[in-house]
Amino acid sequence: MARASIEVRDLVVRYGSVVAVRGVTFTVAAGEHLTLLGPSGCGKTTTLRAIAGLEKPTAGEIRIGGAPVFSSSSPAVNIPAERRGLSMVFQSYAIWPHMSVFDNVAYGLRVRKRPEAEVTTRVREALDLVQLGELGTRSASKLSGGQQQRVALARAFVFSPSVLLFDEPLSNLDAKLRAEMRVELKELQRRLDITSVYVTHDLEEALAISDRIVVMRDGVIEQIGSPAEIYDRPRNTFVADFVGSANLIRGRRRTDLERDGLVVIQTHGGALVHGTAPGRAAGDEVLMAIRTVRLRLERARPATPFNVWPARIRQRVFQGDFTQYHVDWDGRVLIVRVAAPDPLAEGDEVFVSADPRYCVLLEE
Ligand code: ADP
Ligand code: MG
Repeated sequence: MARASIEVRDLVVRYGSVVAVRGVTFTVAAGEHLTLLGPSGCGKTTTLRAIAGLEKPTAGEIRIGGAPVFSSSSPAVNIPAERRGLSMVFQSYAIWPHMSVFDNVAYGLRVRKRPEAEVTTRVREALDLVQLGELGTRSASKLSGGQQQRVALARAFVFSPSVLLFDEPLSNLDAKLRAEMRVELKELQRRLDITSVYVTHDLEEALAISDRIVVMRDGVIEQIGSPAEIYDRPRNTFVADFVGSANLIRGRRRTDLERDGLVVIQTHGGALVHGTAPGRAAGDEVLMAIRTVRLRLERARPATPFNVWPARIRQRVFQGDFTQYHVDWDGRVLIVRVAAPDPLAEGDEVFVSADPRYCVLLEE
């Protein structure tokens, strides 16, 4: 299958008076897996449908494989959906229960009057890719939810698209199955080796399956980066909050103490926090974000030169996979998540510390 790049430039989509997408620009490299992540209503589906040709943008430009498929400037271009070489997988994957697995996947090819020999070859390939090769003759109604979702996937790439578009394909599945399908999807993406754009509001899904993530809010892009960048170097409070749980620490910038590329803030309680500033540094009064899992708790003072502070365990909440500690620190409470089994007790005097790499100065 050929892989195509995608370029979206200054995309605007209106529905009457509602501006769903307000000037969005990003690119997807050939073979890359990009995810649009954000809360409901932020414009993810609209952006995806504009790429697919199912929604006519108000302004902007979209290129697939270098060739414009939409452009609002002259000469205006709007290539119809069926000629863009894309396939889309939706949340409601609506397979036909009265048909066999094979016929479900073959349907689109037969509608397009492909020769039956080609249909057979392509459907077999597609079913093998989703590991349903053995189940071709089975009635689709006799499949589990996860298997039905795989039929829907096979149906999407049986056309050998150059790009696959996914719109929350797992959100109808229960949590356990969703976690399994996430891993399967990642494996499938690797086997197919084609460009994909994936839409979800589910953070874990986005972190697990993406090469890069575009975080959206209210029709605009808040940040673009690798999963690790989005998680550990959020640009602003929105990304810090939406992408997992973070402590936000307010303080005053102490540029007089800064060296070695680190920034320093002083909290109102007097603590000095060393960190990094990935984005444009803000003013005098600033906010720093530290993920709850990046803070460390120890009984003995660690031998690191900075970002070690005395603290006291106020509350311990056992959560199974981790324990959440509420820690009195600098006149406020910090949340710390620890996976280690050795429990600290409420009331314990401890040291809380943080690697400056994980203390991130926010832009707003
Ligand atoms: P998401 O997929 O991120 O949940 P959408 O792209 O579906 O968001 O929607 C973005 C905004 O556009 C929302 O405010 C939504 O209500 C509005 N919207 C989406 N589709 C339509 C439509 N067909 N008509 C009018 N408004 C729409
Ligand atoms: Mg949507």
